Amino acid sequence: MSTPLCTTDLHLHTNLSFCAPKTTFAASYLPLCAGEGIRTVGISNHLYAAEKNGIDGVSYLDYALRIKDEITALRPTTDVRLLVGCEVETFPGQEPGLHPADAHHFDYVLLAPSHMFNQIYWYRDIDLSDADKVRTVMLERFRYACMLDYGVPTGICHPLYPICCPWEQEVVDGITDEELSDCFTLAKQTKKSIEIHACLWRQGTALDGEGLSPSYLRILSAAKAAGCKFHFGSDAHAPEAFAGVHAKLERAAERIGVGKEDLWEVIARTIQPASLQ
Ligand SMILES: [Zn+2]
Ligand SMILES: [Zn+2]
Repeated sequence: MSTPLCTTDLHLHTNLSFCAPKTTFAASYLPLCAGEGIRTVGISNHLYAAEKNGIDGVSYLDYALRIKDEITALRPTTDVRLLVGCEVETFPGQEPGLHPADAHHFDYVLLAPSHMFNQIYWYRDIDLSDADKVRTVMLERFRYACMLDYGVPTGICHPLYPICCPWEQEVVDGITDEELSDCFTLAKQTKKSIEIHACLWRQGTALDGEGLSPSYLRILSAAKAAGCKFHFGSDAHAPEAFAGVHAKLERAAERIGVGKEDLWEVIARTIQPASLQ
């Protein structure tokens, strides 16, 4: 059997994301890591547009950085390598949720240019009333995210996956091969890692006999063809969404043709986490 690729999960939430259960801590995932074959875990809680109100009277940044104390306390107790990341909103017309001057707090940054579930508030001025409009915004946001430079390793989570959009299949399948090539060539040039993500088997698009989405395999195969680097992310908000996921992510990587040489350098064990310094 070949060496597994999926030994790192860089997209995990804890209760410092308000969409996660209060009972989810970084420690909640650790008992499952051995069974999942995961040796490195990265916590990436949401950072919303910087000018919006924070939580508990503190900014989103200070709130998310509370994870550092949690992780510092955990490190002596586990062989699992723990990294501190974040998932940064890039809403149109808003400052990104992380200012470049604050990026040094994190080992890596994940950018989220396809959160379409916030149209009620964040996207209120933008017309997302059909699949073509959603696709146009999503592609524009992807290119915008590629151009952000944080000076730390940066990836794009659930790339070109229109989260909570009612026309998901139509949006995704309507992206042309040329648009995919254009987006992922830009991602390669700007050194943005592409996430192999659990949305590959959510129900928004038709699934194949292996329970994976041919629509998203096509997207990620275009990233591979463009020469992008990849990382794995379950986007779990609780341990139940972490268990049993990584064999499927591994299988998706095989289907895309991703090999060890295609994995993002941030997951190499030789890199010293900035959060330790
Ligand atoms: Zn997300
Ligand atoms: Zn997430």
